[in-house]
Amino acid sequence: MISFELAQRLVEKNIPRLRKKTVKIQNALGYVLAEEIRAPIDLPVDDHAAMDGFCLRSRQTRGARNGKPVLFRVCGDLKAGDTRRRIVKGLETCRIMTGAMLPAGADTVIAKEEAKVRGRYLAVDRLTPRGKYIRYKGEEIKKGGIVLREHSLIHPATIGILAMLGKDKVKVMDRPKVSLTATGNEIVRPGFPRRPGQIYDSNSSLLRSALENMGIRPLTVNRVKDHPHALGRAVETALKKSDILILTGGVSVGKYDYVKDALKKAGVLTIFWNVGQKPGKPLYFGKRGKTLVFGLPGNPASVFTCFYEYVFPAVRLMSGSRHPYLDRETAQMGAEIKADPSKTLFLKGKRALAGMKNTVTPLGRQGSHMISSLQNADCLILIPPSQGIVKKGQKVEVDLLPVRNGA
Ligand code: AMP
Ligand code: MG
Repeated sequence: MISFELAQRLVEKNIPRLRKKTVKIQNALGYVLAEEIRAPIDLPVDDHAAMDGFCLRSRQTRGARNGKPVLFRVCGDLKAGDTRRRIVKGLETCRIMTGAMLPAGADTVIAKEEAKVRGRYLAVDRLTPRGKYIRYKGEEIKKGGIVLREHSLIHPATIGILAMLGKDKVKVMDRPKVSLTATGNEIVRPGFPRRPGQIYDSNSSLLRSALENMGIRPLTVNRVKDHPHALGRAVETALKKSDILILTGGVSVGKYDYVKDALKKAGVLTIFWNVGQKPGKPLYFGKRGKTLVFGLPGNPASVFTCFYEYVFPAVRLMSGSRHPYLDRETAQMGAEIKADPSKTLFLKGKRALAGMKNTVTPLGRQGSHMISSLQNADCLILIPPSQGIVKKGQKVEVDLLPVRNGA
């Protein structure tokens, strides 16, 4: 049996390099950038008016004061999108709209709300400094400057930034192809009749949606009986086309737990089996070539915990992320808990702010076969192996679940 920390490290050490691909920006959400993005243009692209108003030469407003205005002749309209370069000379002004290119000569804008128009003239009765209400070319980003670093996660603003630079495609790290196989003679597809002795298969639905939550649609999701041949065939088919194969059930020491045998026969190399943790002790991890194989113990809470502590970071690492693990925080225990002498316990927990303190309370129904309390859980509480008792108020580490919870 190896420790949880070592098990996580072994997964990390065995992550293969994945492919890069070019995608349209509108399909890039959730991917990680596989290239550094430098600005091919200045941003803003030109000097623009930042307000609707009048543009003019600030120098001409010298000497303007209350009662003795300087009159500027209004020479035309400049709209956003006008592409012709214009010039403003001497005592001329142009109406200008937000986002319109500033004409040569003009160096300031008087906002419409502050402007006094008299017939065809604009009356300016005070000194207007240069640069008012102007967005300068390149003030945000200069052409050639680094805008986005490689390995950045692409979220909606990233896509906006790429579009702003005129890019419609981007190079990303490909995401792994994942196959799911739930094993067990007892499991029945939800929605179908169940006979005594059978249970509904919750693992495949849970894992499928946990992956979809990461932007990954599994290649295949199937159920296989506890039968060496059936299992062998399923494993071989899945291994051929997947970067990650996730199996659930059948990895323990039961007489009908054939998963490890089937994997061995298929040429999968065992990297570890059995981790000092609860739930999820008989977790299996192996690989064949570049394909990773996770054998998750069948209990639903084991599946959930092992997914978020091992599979989730593996998927993120393979997808190019530099921050693959769940966010970890410290919190004060809201209840007393007995630690396990040889295992890390993962407890379904809920955090709250008490005073200025981050506290966390273990929820009810902690059994490996139970997942109903996960509906309201927002973290997994880590209780490292020890002989002792974790007292109320004692500091513990919690791994935040990447889901919004609630009633
Ligand atoms: P195993 O890992 O095969 O020993 O299974 C451990 C426990 O998890 C048993 O009680 C199984 O009935 C249960 N189990 C296995 N597969 C599933 C599944 N797909 N959905 C729900 N429970 C399962
Ligand atoms: Mg079983």
